[in-house]
Amino acid sequence: MRGPRSAAVIVGGMSSTLAQTACAAATADDERWMRHALALAAGAAAQGEVPVGAVVVRDGELLGEGANAPISLSDPTAHAEVRALRAAATSVGNYRLPGATLYVTLEPCAMCAGAIMHARIGRVVFGTRDPKTGTAGSVIDLFAEARLNHHASVEGGVLQSECAAQISGFFAARRCGHPVPSAAVGDGGGTGPAGRMEADT
Ligand SMILES: [Zn+2]
Repeated sequence: MRGPRSAAVIVGGMSSTLAQTACAAATADDERWMRHALALAAGAAAQGEVPVGAVVVRDGELLGEGANAPISLSDPTAHAEVRALRAAATSVGNYRLPGATLYVTLEPCAMCAGAIMHARIGRVVFGTRDPKTGTAGSVIDLFAEARLNHHASVEGGVLQSECAAQISGFFAARRCGHPVPSAAVGDGGGTGPAGRMEADT
Protein backbone atom coordinates (compact mmCIF):
# COMPACT_ATOMS: atom_id res chain seq x y z
CA MET A 1 0.00 0.00 0.00
CA ARG A 2 2.09 2.88 -1.18
CA GLY A 3 0.00 5.55 -2.79
CA PRO A 4 -3.32 7.15 -2.07
CA ARG A 5 -4.80 5.30 -5.00
CA SER A 6 -3.54 1.96 -3.82
CA ALA A 7 -4.61 2.32 -0.22
CA ALA A 8 -6.55 -0.75 0.72
CA VAL A 9 -10.04 -0.37 1.98
CA ILE A 10 -10.39 -2.36 5.16
CA VAL A 11 -13.85 -3.27 6.23
CA GLY A 12 -13.90 -5.23 9.44
CA GLY A 13 -16.22 -8.15 9.55
CA MET A 14 -17.68 -7.67 6.10
CA SER A 15 -17.86 -10.33 3.48
CA SER A 16 -15.55 -9.99 0.53
CA THR A 17 -18.48 -8.96 -1.65
CA LEU A 18 -19.41 -6.17 0.72
CA ALA A 19 -15.77 -5.19 1.08
CA GLN A 20 -15.52 -4.86 -2.69
CA THR A 21 -18.60 -2.70 -2.68
CA ALA A 22 -17.05 -0.52 0.01
CA CYS A 23 -13.84 -0.28 -1.99
CA ALA A 24 -15.76 0.90 -5.02
CA ALA A 25 -17.56 3.42 -2.84
CA ALA A 26 -14.32 5.16 -1.80
CA THR A 27 -14.34 8.08 -4.18
CA ALA A 28 -12.18 11.03 -5.12
CA ASP A 29 -14.43 13.04 -2.82
CA ASP A 30 -13.52 10.67 0.01
CA GLU A 31 -9.84 11.32 -0.59
CA ARG A 32 -10.43 15.05 -0.80
CA TRP A 33 -12.18 15.16 2.55
CA MET A 34 -9.62 12.84 4.12
CA ARG A 35 -6.90 15.24 2.99
CA HIS A 36 -8.82 18.00 4.73
CA ALA A 37 -8.85 15.86 7.89
CA LEU A 38 -5.13 15.19 7.51
CA ALA A 39 -4.47 18.94 7.41
CA LEU A 40 -6.47 19.38 10.61
CA ALA A 41 -4.47 16.57 12.19
CA ALA A 42 -1.22 18.28 11.22
CA GLY A 43 -2.45 21.35 13.07
CA ALA A 44 -3.06 19.22 16.16
CA ALA A 45 0.48 17.84 15.98
CA ALA A 46 1.86 21.36 15.84
CA GLN A 47 0.14 21.92 19.20
CA GLY A 48 1.71 18.79 20.66
CA GLU A 49 -1.51 16.81 20.35
CA VAL A 50 -1.71 13.38 18.80
CA PRO A 51 -2.47 14.16 15.16
CA VAL A 52 -6.07 13.22 14.48
CA GLY A 53 -8.44 15.27 12.35
CA ALA A 54 -12.09 14.86 11.43
CA VAL A 55 -14.70 16.51 9.23
CA VAL A 56 -18.46 16.07 8.90
CA VAL A 57 -19.81 16.43 5.37
CA ARG A 58 -23.30 16.24 3.93
CA ASP A 59 -24.30 16.65 0.30
CA GLY A 60 -20.81 17.86 -0.52
CA GLU A 61 -20.95 20.57 2.13
CA LEU A 62 -18.56 20.81 5.08
CA LEU A 63 -20.73 21.01 8.19
CA GLY A 64 -18.03 20.87 10.83
CA GLU A 65 -14.42 20.05 11.46
CA GLY A 66 -12.28 19.21 14.44
CA ALA A 67 -8.76 18.39 15.53
CA ASN A 68 -7.67 16.32 18.50
CA ALA A 69 -7.11 18.63 21.50
CA PRO A 70 -7.58 16.87 24.87
CA ILE A 71 -4.30 18.18 26.28
CA SER A 72 -4.67 21.83 25.31
CA LEU A 73 -8.33 21.93 26.33
CA SER A 74 -7.90 19.74 29.44
CA ASP A 75 -10.85 17.80 28.08
CA PRO A 76 -10.79 14.02 27.71
CA THR A 77 -13.70 14.24 25.27
CA ALA A 78 -11.93 16.64 22.89
CA HIS A 79 -11.25 14.04 20.25
CA ALA A 80 -11.36 15.18 16.64
CA GLU A 81 -14.60 13.33 15.92
CA VAL A 82 -16.45 14.79 18.91
CA ARG A 83 -15.29 18.29 18.09
CA ALA A 84 -16.32 17.90 14.45
CA LEU A 85 -19.71 16.52 15.47
CA ARG A 86 -20.28 19.41 17.87
CA ALA A 87 -19.35 21.95 15.21
CA ALA A 88 -21.58 20.28 12.63
CA ALA A 89 -24.56 19.99 14.98
CA THR A 90 -24.17 23.62 15.98
CA SER A 91 -23.95 24.75 12.36
CA VAL A 92 -27.19 23.03 11.38
CA GLY A 93 -28.99 23.55 14.69
CA ASN A 94 -29.70 19.87 15.12
CA TYR A 95 -27.93 17.26 17.22
CA ARG A 96 -28.95 14.62 14.68
CA LEU A 97 -26.94 14.53 11.48
CA PRO A 98 -28.64 11.89 9.30
CA GLY A 99 -27.16 11.41 5.87
CA ALA A 100 -23.85 12.93 6.90
CA THR A 101 -20.45 11.33 6.50
CA LEU A 102 -17.75 11.65 9.13
CA TYR A 103 -14.18 11.43 7.89
CA VAL A 104 -11.45 10.82 10.44
CA THR A 105 -7.79 10.02 10.00
CA LEU A 106 -7.78 7.36 12.76
CA GLU A 107 -10.24 4.60 13.58
CA PRO A 108 -12.74 5.94 16.15
CA CYS A 109 -12.53 5.01 19.83
CA ALA A 110 -15.53 3.82 21.86
CA MET A 111 -16.45 7.33 22.99
CA CYS A 112 -16.44 8.66 19.46
CA ALA A 113 -18.31 5.64 18.11
CA GLY A 114 -21.02 6.38 20.67
CA ALA A 115 -21.17 10.03 19.67
CA ILE A 116 -21.33 9.04 16.00
CA MET A 117 -24.29 6.78 16.75
CA HIS A 118 -26.09 9.42 18.82
CA ALA A 119 -25.66 11.87 15.96
CA ARG A 120 -27.11 9.34 13.51
CA ILE A 121 -24.17 9.74 11.19
CA GLY A 122 -24.84 7.64 8.12
CA ARG A 123 -21.33 6.81 7.06
CA VAL A 124 -17.91 6.77 8.69
CA VAL A 125 -14.71 6.83 6.66
CA PHE A 126 -11.44 6.43 8.53
CA GLY A 127 -7.84 6.43 7.41
CA THR A 128 -5.81 4.02 9.46
CA ARG A 129 -6.53 1.54 12.18
CA ASP A 130 -5.89 2.08 15.88
CA PRO A 131 -4.86 -1.30 17.26
CA LYS A 132 -5.19 -0.11 20.87
CA THR A 133 -8.50 1.75 20.97
CA GLY A 134 -10.14 1.23 17.58
CA THR A 135 -13.79 0.23 17.74
CA ALA A 136 -14.47 -0.34 14.06
CA GLY A 137 -12.99 -3.81 14.11
CA SER A 138 -9.53 -3.51 15.65
CA VAL A 139 -10.35 -4.03 19.34
CA ILE A 140 -14.08 -4.42 18.98
CA ASP A 141 -16.55 -3.64 16.22
CA LEU A 142 -19.26 -1.48 17.76
CA PHE A 143 -20.57 -0.58 14.32
CA ALA A 144 -21.42 -4.22 13.70
CA GLU A 145 -22.98 -4.74 17.13
CA ALA A 146 -26.53 -5.88 16.44
CA ARG A 147 -27.70 -4.94 19.94
CA LEU A 148 -27.02 -1.26 19.30
CA ASN A 149 -29.83 0.50 17.53
CA HIS A 150 -27.99 2.61 15.01
CA HIS A 151 -25.50 1.46 12.45
CA ALA A 152 -23.38 3.69 10.28
CA SER A 153 -21.69 2.11 7.33
CA VAL A 154 -17.94 2.08 7.88
CA GLU A 155 -15.06 2.18 5.45
CA GLY A 156 -11.43 2.18 6.44
CA GLY A 157 -8.18 2.55 4.57
CA VAL A 158 -8.83 5.79 2.67
CA LEU A 159 -5.37 7.42 2.38
CA GLN A 160 -4.27 4.75 4.83
CA SER A 161 -0.55 5.16 4.26
CA GLU A 162 -0.62 8.94 4.76
CA CYS A 163 -2.77 8.66 7.88
CA ALA A 164 -0.56 5.94 9.38
CA ALA A 165 2.64 7.83 8.56
CA GLN A 166 1.33 10.96 10.20
CA ILE A 167 0.65 9.17 13.49
CA SER A 168 3.80 7.06 13.49
CA GLY A 169 5.94 10.06 12.52
CA PHE A 170 4.54 12.02 15.45
CA PHE A 171 5.40 9.31 17.97
CA ALA A 172 8.79 8.58 16.41
CA ALA A 173 9.74 12.25 16.74
CA ARG A 174 8.54 12.35 20.32
CA ARG A 175 10.48 9.24 21.25
CA CYS A 176 13.62 10.91 19.89
CA GLY A 177 12.93 13.89 22.10
CA HIS A 178 12.50 16.18 19.14
CA PRO A 179 9.76 18.72 18.85
CA VAL A 180 7.26 17.80 16.19
CA PRO A 181 7.14 20.48 13.51
CA SER A 182 4.01 20.32 11.44
CA ALA A 183 6.07 19.81 8.30
CA ALA A 184 7.46 16.57 9.69
CA VAL A 185 4.06 15.12 10.25
CA GLY A 186 3.20 12.87 7.39
CA ASP A 187 6.80 12.05 6.54
CA GLY A 188 6.53 8.69 8.19
CA GLY A 189 8.45 7.37 11.12
CA GLY A 190 9.10 3.72 10.59
CA THR A 191 6.93 2.53 13.44
CA GLY A 192 3.48 1.10 13.38
CA PRO A 193 0.38 3.09 14.18
CA ALA A 194 0.30 3.92 17.83
CA GLY A 195 -2.75 4.06 20.04
CA ARG A 196 -4.06 7.51 20.73
CA MET A 197 -3.77 6.83 24.43
CA GLU A 198 0.01 6.91 24.08
CA ALA A 199 -0.34 10.66 24.25
CA ASP A 200 -0.90 10.32 27.95
CA THR A 201 2.40 8.61 28.65
ZN1 LIG B 1 -12.34 9.13 20.13
